[in-house]
Amino acid sequence: MPPVKEEFVSKLIDGKAIAAEINRENAAEAAAIAKEYGASPGLAVVLVGKDPASQVYVASKVKKCAELGLYSEKIVLPESATQQEVLDVVRSLNGNPAIHGILVQSPPPPQIDEQAVINAIDPAKDVDCFHPFNVGKLLLGDLSGLLPCTPWGVIQLLERSGISPAGKHAVILGRSNIVGKPMAALLMAKGKNADATVTVCHSRTKNLAEITRTADILIAAVGKPGFVKGDMVKEGVVVIDVGINRVPDPSAPKGTRLVGDVDFDSVAPKAARITPVPGGVGPMTIAVLMRNTICAFKASMKKK
Ligand code: NDP
Repeated sequence: MPPVKEEFVSKLIDGKAIAAEINRENAAEAAAIAKEYGASPGLAVVLVGKDPASQVYVASKVKKCAELGLYSEKIVLPESATQQEVLDVVRSLNGNPAIHGILVQSPPPPQIDEQAVINAIDPAKDVDCFHPFNVGKLLLGDLSGLLPCTPWGVIQLLERSGISPAGKHAVILGRSNIVGKPMAALLMAKGKNADATVTVCHSRTKNLAEITRTADILIAAVGKPGFVKGDMVKEGVVVIDVGINRVPDPSAPKGTRLVGDVDFDSVAPKAARITPVPGGVGPMTIAVLMRNTICAFKASMKKK
């Protein structure tokens, strides 16, 4: 992102700094676990194929594990892998006592039924929180275990910036299984960091701007660069931009740059607080993934 104008700097919610704080907590927990059990929480990351973006994501997860003192395994299957081969890998990881979290990097090649693969992961090792069992728990308001990485990252950004959603109107743009739906479940839950009145919008929503202008907290997860403009928000709104979109930029070294779903320049003047892209929600997702792996380790110890 180009340098933020001086007048907006105090409005920024610094995801990089908050993720670093959570990762310091993760590293301390991993060190305490090593001392108590002589073991490390273990994460297995399964990559099917050679999608360049997926390769980058997988590498950064493995690197973060090493930094924080977590054990990790990277399993790479060829682009031509069959459904059975992927399921066999998942089942073998389910039975591997050194592995407490399993993640199959999305998107897999088209011949793979992603939901069937997710369903095969032991719910106790489902660190993405995508398994129907964990999604169901979330909707029932049970936040005691594994939590959806990006949406919980958003909740942490709010909490650690002193913003309470209680009684506020939270408007979520997007209803995907990864972001929009679990985000709504977390914000509408009862209790701390929740208790919001939630509206979920999507591509069939009518009068979208009328709804977004009533948001106290606006969470954009649409996947469209600069979709939210200044005239779609009210003064004093808190804006969380989940979007990660690569757009052409001839002035950038690689010819492209990352932008969010929010048009920062027109929205920031009206916002009370706002996340940048990059450096907002992005770094939180991995921090929560690490937290979930530690959580899965601890739960496995309780079962023994
Ligand atoms: P999806 O494509 O799965 O979902 C997009 C949602 O936006 C859909 O619900 C869609 O509606 C809705 N939508 C699309 N166009 C409009 C419109 N014109 N008006 C209103 N709603 C619209 O995306 P994801 O949820 O997976 O991701 C959203 C963004 O967040 C992407 O940019 C992605 O890269 C980013 N992301 C970032 C992460 C992070 O770590 N920061 C993690 C995950 C995602 P409908 O359902 O009707 O089609």
